[in-house]
Amino acid sequence: MKPSHPAPNCCPSGDEELRQALEKAGRRFTRQRAAVFAYLHSVESHPTAEQVFAAVRRSLKRISLATVYKALDALVAAGVASRLTSEDGTARYDGRSDSHYHLRCLKTGQVRDLPLEYDPGLIERLAPQLTQWLREQGFELIGHRIELLGQFK
Ligand SMILES: [Zn+2]
Repeated sequence: MKPSHPAPNCCPSGDEELRQALEKAGRRFTRQRAAVFAYLHSVESHPTAEQVFAAVRRSLKRISLATVYKALDALVAAGVASRLTSEDGTARYDGRSDSHYHLRCLKTGQVRDLPLEYDPGLIERLAPQLTQWLREQGFELIGHRIELLGQFK
């Protein structure tokens, strides 16, 4: 009798990790959510929900924009993606959930990661009095965001 092997392509570890993260957040793992997550990871552009929808529907023809919105919400709730908002109210989505820095083009709205390591001690060094002042206000500083603004020519 042959030893049994798991079927190839069954449950790649990425999907299994995603399933665990979603279930921990009380969300279901679905094929659509996995596709949205895979797309977010494959691009650097920090797409809007509409852009994610346009891309994912190429392989999942019957997916709706509402399902994409719900998938993005679930991924953010599970801590495997993050939502970036701008002054014009357009949300963009990031397949990275670790702290990192961005640039934003004010002409096109696109957001990209900066090749710069996140520095948790930056604010403390930049303004030591500020962190003390925040503590006195009862505000616990847990991180910071930097977004460089400009335009691509
Ligand atoms: Zn990013």
